[in-house]
Amino acid sequence: MKRDYYESLSIGRDATAEDIKSAYRREALKHHPDRNPGDREAERKFKEAAEAYEVLSDQGKRQRYDRFGHDGLRSSGNSRGFSSVEDIFSAFGDIFGGGGSVFEDLFGFSGGSRGGGRRGASLRCEVRLSFDEMAHGAEKTIRLKRAEACETCSGTGARPGTSPRSCAYCGGRGEIQQSQGFFAIRTTCPRCRGEGKMIEDPCHDCGGHGRVARTREISVKIPAGIEDGTRIRMTGEGEAGDHNGPAGDLYCEVYVSRHPLFEREGMDLICEVPITFSQASLGAKVMVPGIDRQEEIEVHRGTQSGSMFRLRGRGLPDVHGRGHGDLLVRTVVETPKRLSSRQEELLREFAETEEVSVSPRRKTFFEKVKDLFGQEDE
Ligand SMILES: [Zn+2]
Ligand SMILES: [Zn+2]
Repeated sequence: MKRDYYESLSIGRDATAEDIKSAYRREALKHHPDRNPGDREAERKFKEAAEAYEVLSDQGKRQRYDRFGHDGLRSSGNSRGFSSVEDIFSAFGDIFGGGGSVFEDLFGFSGGSRGGGRRGASLRCEVRLSFDEMAHGAEKTIRLKRAEACETCSGTGARPGTSPRSCAYCGGRGEIQQSQGFFAIRTTCPRCRGEGKMIEDPCHDCGGHGRVARTREISVKIPAGIEDGTRIRMTGEGEAGDHNGPAGDLYCEVYVSRHPLFEREGMDLICEVPITFSQASLGAKVMVPGIDRQEEIEVHRGTQSGSMFRLRGRGLPDVHGRGHGDLLVRTVVETPKRLSSRQEELLREFAETEEVSVSPRRKTFFEKVKDLFGQEDE
């Protein structure tokens, strides 16, 4: 049985965003692994609070949780379920954007520096899709230059055969603790810069950083139906961390070219289709463009300009694979610009039945010539 998220943070269901944040700060400080080394129960509570905070601090997730409970979050990968403490640090680093983690934000120190190297920077890239690629999904290859773990020293930064020595200044903890009244203030060790280790004999290939620049081709899978401007997160595809610290993420921004005929609204496509006055008046079957093939709509008698026809399921696929949107066809009744003499004759006859006034027939060029030069033939 999963514990109620509000209970995990000891708050009421009407808690404000501020309440949630301060409740999480309180719980996380209480159960923080640095304060409770080796305490499994504290670690469990620490994870529980992080998961509760992750859901309740996100308006959409919170609403789903309020309505459907844990089930509401299960299907779409909403509740990640943290497997380790490091997981929590890296997850909240992203929620708050940039390289800073929620712990820097909440407590003023970085949780990411606990042992090992610093986390690598996140990278971003852009991908452009045609409308058709967007509608069907695509796999794109991008080239990027990024720091990767040095092969020579396996990312440790130490010359092969040697190994980094534990930092004497902080005793390998990466942090120094100073007591200030009731609170213990931790700061990053200035000697080893939080890594807990010192390299005495640096690797020649990476100069002791444990990282080297590499150009890579990375394949990005883009799901069908993606919206213009969506950011895809590729975990661990950013820069390698210092001395085998966790890698940053790669954020791929996806842009979609406009279609000449379709406007997009969510999963629905809207398309304007011209029809003639007679089709609008009498009704007709009309071919309209679709994503993969032409579709047929039945325009009923007396269709107006601006009438909407809905073709269910003929729109774009949902990006999570849950069905398709609709194709909406808006009719535009077109007035003919040129009429044959036969068409004009019929329309004038039609106008007589309407008993409305219409402009008199325009004289043709030959009739005007006749008027000018008299009726010589007769
Ligand atoms: Zn190296
Ligand atoms: Zn140190």
